[in-house]
Amino acid sequence: MAEETVDALARAQAVDGSAGAAHRHDALLSARAANIKQSAVRDVFEISMQPGLVSLAGGNPNLASLPLERLGETARRIIAERGLEALQYGGGQGTLELRTQICEVMAAEGILDADPDNVVITAGSQSAQDVAAKVFCNPGDVILLEDPTYVGALNTFEAYEVDVQPVAGDEHGIIPSELRTRIAALQAEGRRIKLLYTIPNFNNPSGVMLAPERRQEIVDICREANILVLEDNPYGLLKFDGVLPAPLRAANPEDVLYLGSFSKIFAPGLRIGWALVPAHLLQRFYLASEAVTLCPPTFNQLLVSDYLGSYDWQGQISTYRSLYRDRCAALLSALDEFMPAGVSWTRPEGGFFVWLTLPEGIDTYPLLHRGIDAGVVFVPGAAFTAAKGPSNKLRLAYSAVPPETLREGVKRLAPVLAEAIAA
Ligand code: PMP
Repeated sequence: MAEETVDALARAQAVDGSAGAAHRHDALLSARAANIKQSAVRDVFEISMQPGLVSLAGGNPNLASLPLERLGETARRIIAERGLEALQYGGGQGTLELRTQICEVMAAEGILDADPDNVVITAGSQSAQDVAAKVFCNPGDVILLEDPTYVGALNTFEAYEVDVQPVAGDEHGIIPSELRTRIAALQAEGRRIKLLYTIPNFNNPSGVMLAPERRQEIVDICREANILVLEDNPYGLLKFDGVLPAPLRAANPEDVLYLGSFSKIFAPGLRIGWALVPAHLLQRFYLASEAVTLCPPTFNQLLVSDYLGSYDWQGQISTYRSLYRDRCAALLSALDEFMPAGVSWTRPEGGFFVWLTLPEGIDTYPLLHRGIDAGVVFVPGAAFTAAKGPSNKLRLAYSAVPPETLREGVKRLAPVLAEAIAA
């Protein structure tokens, strides 16, 4: 194994947040800082940049189909015609023009009653998660998360000294009876549960979509327990085929704080996402957001507004959708062809990820080394769970990898898993 691979792997394993040798300034650090962990995904991503490796680790969007030349002209025109506005501070909530257009995007996602006044533009949905934790959680408060869940949300919530508690799901998403049981158990212990964080469409990492018939029940359970639902929906419009079930927010404007993003449907580097906030919480939310960023990036907002106003953004989403549909199909067919008995996986209807389950008792973390030796990188499942301890799951991302390479990656991975199962 290459020396730098070993280094990066060692860093990936240092997920306890301890960053290097002790320094006298350590005594100055907040308890919160000690809770800020390295993202195992980012480290594995670093490893996977090495030549010769097939990386099924990074869930980057594929941006090759973007009209770069035209976007360059648009960027130049914005500076030429509105430069002093584009390069100036703006309002903390974001421009009214973009908030109005975001309501049209949300209409395509199934939310028909969004009011631009209730939209707060954020630096990606990641920063909206941070603001939500800051606004709602004191140290020790509980956030419930479907299991598995997005590693970035886990890390953000833990940085606020929140007690993250998993709720079991299956191939149709969160199981309502499990949610009820978990809430009752935590309340019996006197715990204060503030939020349920959920990714109902094409969960990162599992690719699972929450069944339409479970959606209202989940909101009702939370409403009864006075828990706010934090619905994160960056992948909804990337459903490969058919109609997307209504978001939890659609029929529940008071009980759901909804997060959206242009990262997967346009471009993540612009760092433009948003929150649709229940009216009674709006002011607290946007003041907290303003306290971090003052305002969302003005130039990027103008660029996104121009894109939504004068490009075929829905056509671009169709292009993304068919690209990811083909890649997902290639990955699933390679898994069907090469995977040994004992391994099962999800069959996503959208998004970027497939989630593999190995037999009970196999820890996928040590398999990462063996995978790298075999020339393939994945993300071990332990990164994606609020439940501590080893995991027999792993995540494969197909979004950034051409179909032939996906097949090669699975071909390399299969013997590694077969050997672990046989051991
Ligand atoms: N939520 C989920 C479920 C994600 O997978 C990601 C990024 N991969 C994010 C939020 C962060 O997205 P953004 O770029 O909008 O901050």
